[in-house]
Amino acid sequence: MRDKVKDHCAIFGVISDDIGYSVSKLLYQGLMALQHRGQESTGISILKTGGNIITYKKSGLVSKVLESKVLSQYWGNVGIGHNRYATTGATGYKSTDYMQPFHFKNNEIEFSMAFNGTIANFDEVKKNMDEMGRVFITDTDTEVIAQLIGSIALGSEDWPEVLTLAGRLLDGSYSLILMTSEGDIYAMRDPLGFKPLCIGELKNTKRNIYFVASESCAIDVVGGDLIRDVLPGEIVHLSHQKDIHSEIIIKSNRTALCQFEFVYFARPDSTIDGVSVAEARLRLGEYLAKNDPILMNSEIRDNAVVVPVPDSGRSFAVGYAKEAKLPYVEGLMKNRYVHRTFIIPGQAKRKIAVKEKLNPIKSVISGKDVILLDDSIVRGTTTQQIIALLKDKGEAKQVHLRISSPPIISPCYMGIDFPTKNELIAGRFQELYGEDYIEEIRKKTGADTLIYQTIECLMKALQKNQSELCLACLTGIYPLKSVQKLAEMEKSIVKSRA
Ligand code: SF4
Repeated sequence: MRDKVKDHCAIFGVISDDIGYSVSKLLYQGLMALQHRGQESTGISILKTGGNIITYKKSGLVSKVLESKVLSQYWGNVGIGHNRYATTGATGYKSTDYMQPFHFKNNEIEFSMAFNGTIANFDEVKKNMDEMGRVFITDTDTEVIAQLIGSIALGSEDWPEVLTLAGRLLDGSYSLILMTSEGDIYAMRDPLGFKPLCIGELKNTKRNIYFVASESCAIDVVGGDLIRDVLPGEIVHLSHQKDIHSEIIIKSNRTALCQFEFVYFARPDSTIDGVSVAEARLRLGEYLAKNDPILMNSEIRDNAVVVPVPDSGRSFAVGYAKEAKLPYVEGLMKNRYVHRTFIIPGQAKRKIAVKEKLNPIKSVISGKDVILLDDSIVRGTTTQQIIALLKDKGEAKQVHLRISSPPIISPCYMGIDFPTKNELIAGRFQELYGEDYIEEIRKKTGADTLIYQTIECLMKALQKNQSELCLACLTGIYPLKSVQKLAEMEKSIVKSRA
């Protein structure tokens, strides 16, 4: 229903030193915990006793795809899994060739790989592979990486060396895991660390189990303990014989963790690069309240209630209400059984979808000054409808919109499904109205006042500085050089249309 940006995929791997134990149930539980990162398809690869890799993948949610009869057939002590988010309409989106894990096999090499991210120099790498005579069955980054790794592995049996060489040829934002037919798992994070990736363990008297996951919530859910994050530019080797080894293959003088992981993508019960997502969200709400001039207006303050846009606005609203010492109320009821309406095309149909999904609770907001908390404004269309609902159906006196993210002015070229600059309300309005663009967004959404988070407060709330985060969609300055050129091209197109 909401015009939200979407992440691409979750990865999860498990390795046990007990060859009489199957990890498939743990894969299921871990992928269930990571369902929010991708709902289009799910898959697992398991190493069967004897060294054969078997892979099962299908469209649908984890609970539908990985039924108990599948889990009982896919039995082994090492496995990896993947949840995929695909843009609807993307080429081959329903074909299993496009789903992951990607199982690579030729006469000499076999491995399975799960990938989250995007490769900025995809065209260049693919062209080189084409010239080497490689035949591709999809147009995905995943296959390009798998073919690249496969061709390097022909000349070396040393997996860290293979992945190091591949890592040096790839420019992008990614986390990946690779399971070999020898029963090892390698986890790798790009040199700037855009995407989260962490490792955990579960040790008892019967067996030692290691995990690698897109988010720490998956390690919690399977009963494990978080060991640490995989570092940017690091390859971690999980072995059922030799425990954990790691090496940094590419050192960078900065990192670029996606700030949106904290604002929207990640589960609040995850910890990313040492920072709790839940606590970061509370602080984001607190900073909005600390800097809100409306709280000095006693007439509004005495009549105000803090309302979240469910579900993503909740943590921010709790932080705001606590800092402002104002009542927090659930002023919008969400119907959890209306699914997938965000893909409904056309403005009129989307409008109906918002009404089906959200209903204002008149008894708590009628006549009130509603301070409405949301995580971000992307296109602005649903924000406008939510505010209209609060005023028309809920009879709110005024709606004061507070946004936990700074204005999103530029697209993401780092693997997030993002609208173009022209579709981003803040990007377009900034080009159209210059310094007055936030006031114009306020008018468009129908809010009585509008305040966005500042980039400075965002960094304080995330407890990270500019050289640790990707802020490109907020600043238009991209950490990857090949991407900066693309962004400048798009900016000039929007300017010429403005
Ligand atoms: S541009 Fe924005 S959404 Fe994309 S990686 Fe950077 S911070 Fe994340």
